[in-house]
Amino acid sequence: MSWTLHTLDLGEVELNQRRMVPNAEAPGVVRVPVQGWLLVQGEQRVVIDTGFREPNILRRLGDNACGIEQPHQRLVEQLRLHGLTPADVQFVLHTHLHIDHAGQTDLFPMSTVVVVNRRELEYAVSGLSGPSYPPEDIKHLIDRLHTRGALSLLDLEATGSESVLPGLRCLPAGGHTEGSMLVVADTDQGVAVFCGDLIYSVRHQLLSPTLTFNDVGLSANHVVARRSEKAALKRLMRVAPHFKLFPSHDRPVWVQDARVVQGADDCLPGQAGGCWCQQTSMGYREPEAQGSTS
Ligand SMILES: [Zn+2]
Repeated sequence: MSWTLHTLDLGEVELNQRRMVPNAEAPGVVRVPVQGWLLVQGEQRVVIDTGFREPNILRRLGDNACGIEQPHQRLVEQLRLHGLTPADVQFVLHTHLHIDHAGQTDLFPMSTVVVVNRRELEYAVSGLSGPSYPPEDIKHLIDRLHTRGALSLLDLEATGSESVLPGLRCLPAGGHTEGSMLVVADTDQGVAVFCGDLIYSVRHQLLSPTLTFNDVGLSANHVVARRSEKAALKRLMRVAPHFKLFPSHDRPVWVQDARVVQGADDCLPGQAGGCWCQQTSMGYREPEAQGSTS
């Protein structure tokens, strides 16, 4: 048995490119998608990341950041495309808890188990993390912590890997935030790896001609030491011999032997017409003229 994968289109964010890519050749504002994913296997349904709470919350980051959202991009509407409600989802997995990844988790009932790396929750309440972890989102997770069965905390730095369900496991990412995790799923199209924001931009971090052989470029947004972030990226690219890599804010690509071998303009089967990856030709694009932003 393997998982069927669907992309959830959870809006877009605009932010200054220098927050994502160091030494960007074209500084300025970029608009990138915010994605979650739905994994289905029989009656089992798993959601990975839940987007932002509402578009204006991104303004707390300053630097002209903002969210963009159409009504159909609400998480509830995206699940509805697949005939589901939040109560039909057994597990929500978080790559990390940043403002654009854990904003709609409180839409799920306490009977849905939310899975977080303990280190990430600790970091979110450490006071070291600024506005990237909105109190609304994090307080909800603390409510889950005090509700039996509503929160599952992983200890990935110590265990190295923890299985959530057959064919679905979590690994410590080792970068971007202190407690980010990779989600690895055996899908009907092969191994899928969800890396959160360890990779912001495939083009800049994996395909740049300035990279030396087998190198991977850092993003401009990481809290661990540069050496640790670099090592995390190298581990990511070697997490399996052949896999499809899903960054949260860019299009997926196929990786073989630690190198990008194919940009994925195909979609995994079973996706409904509302699937984000069938609607846009690239994930990393210049913003449109003013007027459509929130
Ligand atoms: Zn993000």
